[in-house]
Amino acid sequence: GKADLVIVYHRLPYEEVFEDGELRRRRPSSPNGIIPTLLGFFADGRRGSWVAWSTHDDNHGEFETHTEVDASNYPNLRAARVRLTKDDVDIFYKQFSKEAFWPTLHTFWERATFREEHWEVFLEVNKAFAERTAAEAAENAVVWIHDYNLWMVPAYLREIRPDVTIAFFHHTYFPSADVFNVLPWRKDIIGSLLQCDYVGFHIPRQSENFVDVVRGVTPFTVKEKVSCAPRFLTYGCAVGLEEMTKTIEVNGRNISLGAHPVGLSLDRIKNALAMPSIQTRMAQLRAEFEGTKVILSVERLDFTKGILEKLQAYERLLKSHPELIGKITLMTVCVPAAKEMSIYDELQTQIEQAVGRINGSFAKVGWTPIQFFFRSFPFEELVAYYAMADVMWITPLRDGLNLVAKEYIATQGLTAGRGVLVLSEFAGAAAELRGVVLANPHDPVELADTCYFALTMHAKDAKARLKEAFEVVEYYDINYWGQEFMSSVAETKKGNVIDI
Ligand code: UDP
Repeated sequence: GKADLVIVYHRLPYEEVFEDGELRRRRPSSPNGIIPTLLGFFADGRRGSWVAWSTHDDNHGEFETHTEVDASNYPNLRAARVRLTKDDVDIFYKQFSKEAFWPTLHTFWERATFREEHWEVFLEVNKAFAERTAAEAAENAVVWIHDYNLWMVPAYLREIRPDVTIAFFHHTYFPSADVFNVLPWRKDIIGSLLQCDYVGFHIPRQSENFVDVVRGVTPFTVKEKVSCAPRFLTYGCAVGLEEMTKTIEVNGRNISLGAHPVGLSLDRIKNALAMPSIQTRMAQLRAEFEGTKVILSVERLDFTKGILEKLQAYERLLKSHPELIGKITLMTVCVPAAKEMSIYDELQTQIEQAVGRINGSFAKVGWTPIQFFFRSFPFEELVAYYAMADVMWITPLRDGLNLVAKEYIATQGLTAGRGVLVLSEFAGAAAELRGVVLANPHDPVELADTCYFALTMHAKDAKARLKEAFEVVEYYDINYWGQEFMSSVAETKKGNVIDI
C-alpha cells in the first residue's frame, strides 16, 4: 500500500555495507538520535515510506527500489531507494552541498564556490527524490523532507502532487538575508520552500531570517506572530529573538514556520554510563588527570567550528595565567572530514601547526598543554570524556544547534557533576540552554576570559548553572522534538487551501 507518512532523508535508516560478497545491514553509525526518533512514528503500524539515496547496488548486482526496514518493529514501513551514481553523490553531496551551500548557510559566503553545472546535477538529484516520493505517498499523505540537500524537492513534488502536506526541516543554521541573498539560485530555492505547508528550523532567529529572505523574493502577508519566550532567550545573546512569524500567506497559500531545536535521547547516555567498559574508562581518565582540570573540545574538522580561534584563545590563557601551567589540559577531539573534501585540507594543516606551536612552547616534563585526537570516538566513549571534563569549551563561529553542548550538559546532569559549559553565542543551542557561560568566539580576549571564569568557578555556582541547563535538555528531548514537529504540521493542514 501507499504511505501516509513519507520521510525524505538523504540516508537510509540503516547502513548498508558490502561484505563477503553480500549486502549487509548495520545500525546507522550516525550518532544523533534523529533516525530512531523518526522510525518511532512507524512503531504503531502506520503505513510509511523512507525515501533515501542508494549507491551500493550500482556495483553489486540487482537494484531493488523497495526493501523492508525492520518488519518486526515497523510492520508497515518500507525504504524506497533513489538510485544515484557515485558521481552524482560526489557532486551533489560531497562537492556542491559542501562547497556552495554549507559555507553560505553558516555565513561564510566568501568561502563558497557556485558552479552552474553542479546546480544542474543538484536539480536532477532533487527531481529524482521528488518523483520517488510522489510515487510513495498515499492521497493526502504527509511528506517530511530533511535538510538543504533536498531544497528543490518541494517544488518538483508539488507539481506532481497538489494533495500532499509538505513539511521541511532545516538541520543547519539559516543565515540572515544579507548573506543568503548572495546565492545565485536563491529565488528557485525560496520558490521551492514556499511550496511547503510547514518549514521548521532549530531556533526562532533562523526562522525569522528565512522570512527576511522571502521578503526579497516575493510579497506576502504575515498572518500570525508569536512570542519566543519563555522557551527561547530573547535578549543578551547573538541568536536570541523576541518575536517570530508563525504563518505567512503567499499567493493564497499559508506557510507556517516553527522553531524546533533537536533534542537528545537521555537513555542513550544513561546506557553508555552503565556500561562496564565505560565505567572503567572513566576511572582510568580520572586517575590519569588527577590533580588537573580538563577542558574538553569535541567537533568535526570544519571552519565553522572555530577550532583555530579556540587554540589561539588557549594560548592567550596560558600566557596571561602562567599559574595554570601544568594544572590544566585541553583535550580536543577533532573528527576528520571525508578524504574527498579538499575544502578542509588547509584548515587541517593550520590546526596541526597551532597545536604543535602551543605544545612546543608551553610543554614541560610530565605535562602537555593540548592532547589532540585527530579521529572520532564511539559515542559511548565520548560520554566517558563528557563525564570527566571540568569545562566543555564549544566555540563555533556559527552552528545550527550543537548537539555536543547538550550531550555534555546531559552527562554532567546525570552523573551529579559540576562541569561548566562555555558555549559560543553563535550556536543555536545558545538560544535554548539556560545557565551556560556564553562567549563571542570572534573575540579572543572574551574567549580566554570566559574559559578562565569557568575553570575557577565555585562548585556551588557551577551546580546551579548546570541544573538550569539540565532541565532544558531533559524536558525538550528528542521525542519532544519529533512529537512537537509532527503535531505542528498536523495543525497547519487544517484549513490550508492548496492553490496552485
Ligand atoms: N560525535 C561522536 N564521536 C566523535 C565526535 C562527535 O559520536 O568523536 C557525535 C557527537 O556525539 C554529536 C555529533 O557527533 O552527537 C555532532 O553533532 P553536533 O550537532 O555537535 O555537530 P555537527 O557535526 O552536526 O555539526
